[in-house]
Amino acid sequence: MFDSLSDRLNDTFDRLRGKGKLTEADITSAMRDIRMALLEADVNFKVVKEFVAKTKERCMTAEVMESLSPAQNVVKIVLDELTEMLGSTESKLVFSNRIPNVIMLVGLQGSGKTTAAVKLAYLLKKQGRSPLLVACDVYRPAAADQLATLGGEIGVPVFRGDGAHPVDIAKGAIQEAVDHLRDVVIVDTAGRLQIDEQMMQEAVYIKKAVKPDQVLMVVDAMTGQDIVNVVSTFAERTDFDGVIISKLDGDARGGGALSVRQVTGKPIKFVSMGEKPDSLEPFYPDRMAKRILGMGDVVGIIEKAQEAADAEQLEAAERMLREGFTMNDMLDQMKAVKKMGGMKGILGMLPGGQRALNQMGGNLDEGIFDKNEAIIMSMTKEERLRPSIINGQRRARIAKGAGVTPTEVNSLMKQWGEMNKMMGRMRTMANQAQAGGKKG
Ligand code: GDP
Repeated sequence: MFDSLSDRLNDTFDRLRGKGKLTEADITSAMRDIRMALLEADVNFKVVKEFVAKTKERCMTAEVMESLSPAQNVVKIVLDELTEMLGSTESKLVFSNRIPNVIMLVGLQGSGKTTAAVKLAYLLKKQGRSPLLVACDVYRPAAADQLATLGGEIGVPVFRGDGAHPVDIAKGAIQEAVDHLRDVVIVDTAGRLQIDEQMMQEAVYIKKAVKPDQVLMVVDAMTGQDIVNVVSTFAERTDFDGVIISKLDGDARGGGALSVRQVTGKPIKFVSMGEKPDSLEPFYPDRMAKRILGMGDVVGIIEKAQEAADAEQLEAAERMLREGFTMNDMLDQMKAVKKMGGMKGILGMLPGGQRALNQMGGNLDEGIFDKNEAIIMSMTKEERLRPSIINGQRRARIAKGAGVTPTEVNSLMKQWGEMNKMMGRMRTMANQAQAGGKKG
């Protein structure tokens, strides 16, 4: 998402950088390009108008135009204003002292509400809470079953009052939570394909009955311009405290999602980047703005790495330093990269990474991991622990077993060789540091 917006903005910045000193005409022309890029990405026209007016005013000052690097200043101002447009600071869930806390999800059918309920439950469970999911969508026949299945997968109980009225189900769920010591109740309400009076009424009734601590609206990033009407109507009728944007991993233009904050004044709290339960992430306006401008999300990478690294991996690192780097370690590393969203996920967060990916036409061969995995799986225990024993004959056998060419086995061996050499250098450094420490 936002790839072509990123490209267009970066082309504009490149043109400015090529100029050295900037004239008013240069800035006017850059602002025109930025305006077009945002409109074409589906950002709401009022939001674009305001954004460009503010950005232009800040750029057209002597301070910027006569500075040593005016183009860099323009980029910085665009970054600031984009961050501001997205909400400027992170907006967290607010919990009250009441037990259970109640979170109610609203949104159109297909927006990703049910899956968002599950993802939220998963996230809260990871944070040490004990959520209860509630199936109040009694119209879509499979909705309650879907919730029950997904809830089962993440080990979160699902309350469903088959045949009962949604308001009674919601009330019953709160009693259930009290009885079974669940501290957060997540209510999945019914959606419709279009804004519909009965759906709105029902959401209003449920809200009145359970007095949620927060109402979150789930918005599909692929909706485009129409998003603005939908969120405005929900804001008027049920009101809500924040937004979850789903399907940000899709390849729609996504500008509608970027407009939500400005149109409703409500913060974006989470974004969802996939169908799996762990694909819901807190929303950071500054990081998103940087990603859109191709500046990378370095903090995001570090956090992902921290999430992926557990005590077991730290122990493995120590062992590698002691005993060398084996093929089993290589296998673990490939798995860790996969866990962080694959090479595409990591590259997409690096400065300029998204652009590089686009230039490759998005073709990063993630399949290489599967191939390498198959190669390692075809090695004997001994070969994995001591790869240096792998001679020509063994190589041919491994290639045959993994269904790859001997060249592909060679290339993996070469990678292992490099890693092993690096590990050796690190071991020497660690030993020297230790010896130095003892002396001092
Ligand atoms: P609901 O009708 O609002 O409850 O929508 P669902 O939760 O059933 O989601 C509709 C479809 O969108 C399902 O196939 C989901 O798997 C899919 N979906 C939801 N969120 C995401 C997301 O962030 N990324 C992708 N790729 N698909 C999603």
